Amino acid sequence: KYDRPDRRPTVVTGASSGIGAATALTLAAAGYPVALGARRVDRLDDLAASIRESGGEVVVSPLDVTDPDSVTAFAAEVVAALGDVETVVSNAGAVAPGTIHEVDSERFAAELDLTITGAHRLVRAFVPAMVERRRGDVVFVSSDVAVRARPFMSAYAAGKWGLEGMAHAMQMELEGTGVRASIVRPGPTWSEMGTDWDVDEAALVLTAWERFGLARHPHFMKPQALADAIRFVVDAPRGVHVNLIEVNPEAPI
Ligand code: NDP
Repeated sequence: KYDRPDRRPTVVTGASSGIGAATALTLAAAGYPVALGARRVDRLDDLAASIRESGGEVVVSPLDVTDPDSVTAFAAEVVAALGDVETVVSNAGAVAPGTIHEVDSERFAAELDLTITGAHRLVRAFVPAMVERRRGDVVFVSSDVAVRARPFMSAYAAGKWGLEGMAHAMQMELEGTGVRASIVRPGPTWSEMGTDWDVDEAALVLTAWERFGLARHPHFMKPQALADAIRFVVDAPRGVHVNLIEVNPEAPI
C-alpha cells in the first residue's frame, strides 16, 4: 500500500485527454488531491466521477491557458477547493502543422503562446505561494521535438525548445527555495494529439516522417508511460531533484 502522510494538492492541465488524463488518474490513485483543468469540462467531469468512485479527492475547473483571466479564475477556484497547491503539472498542449513560410504569423504566435506563455501563466499563478511555503513542484511536459525538431512543426519545435529554456532558467532561479522545476520530455505517444488536423496537415506530417526517416520505428507509447514518469518526478524525496526525464518507445527487437 502506498502511504502518503502529507496532503499535496496537485494541478494537472490538459487533463481532458491523453497524458494529462492518465496523469490525473495516476496521481489521484497515489493519494494526491487533484485539480483538473482544460477547456472540455464535460470530459473533466467524467474523469472526476471515476476518480471519486475510487475514493480520490478531485476538483474540476474550466481552464484555457491562453486566457490570463481563465488562469486567474482557475487558480482561485482550485486553492479555495483544495488549499495551497503544491504540485503543478503543466501539460496542456497542441500542434498545428504547416510549412514554415505558409504559416501565418498570428497562428505561429498563438502556438508559442499556448506552449510557452501558457506555462508561464501557471508559474505566475501558483509559484509565488510555493516559494513562500518553501515547497513545491512544477513539471513541464515538453516533447522530444524540443531537441529533435520535426519538419512542418516549426512553431511546436520552437515552443517546446523555448519551454525547456524557461524551465532551465527557473531551475537556477529557484535553487534553494524548495521549489523544484522539472521537465518531462515524451517521445511519440498515443493520444488525441493530431486528431484535429485536417487532411492536408496530416499528410504533411506523415509524409515528412517517411521522407526524413523519422519513423524508424513506428511504436507509440501509452499515456500511462508518461503518467508513471511524472509520478516518479513528483514523488522524488526532498533532497533529490529530477531535472529532466525523457521517455521514448522501445525500439523493436
Ligand atoms: P491530447 O491532445 O490528448 O491532450 C492535450 C490536452 O491539452 C487536452 O486535454 C486539451 O484539452 C489540452 N489543451 C489544449 N489547449 C489547451 C488550452 N488552451 N488550455 C487548456 N488546455 C488545453 O495530447 P497529449 O496527451 O499527447 O498531449 C499532452 C502533452 O504532451 C502536450 O503538451 C504535448 O505537446 C505533449 N507531447 C505529446 C506527444 C505525443 O506524441 N502525443 C509527444 C511529446 C509531447 P482541451 O481541448 O479540453 O482544452
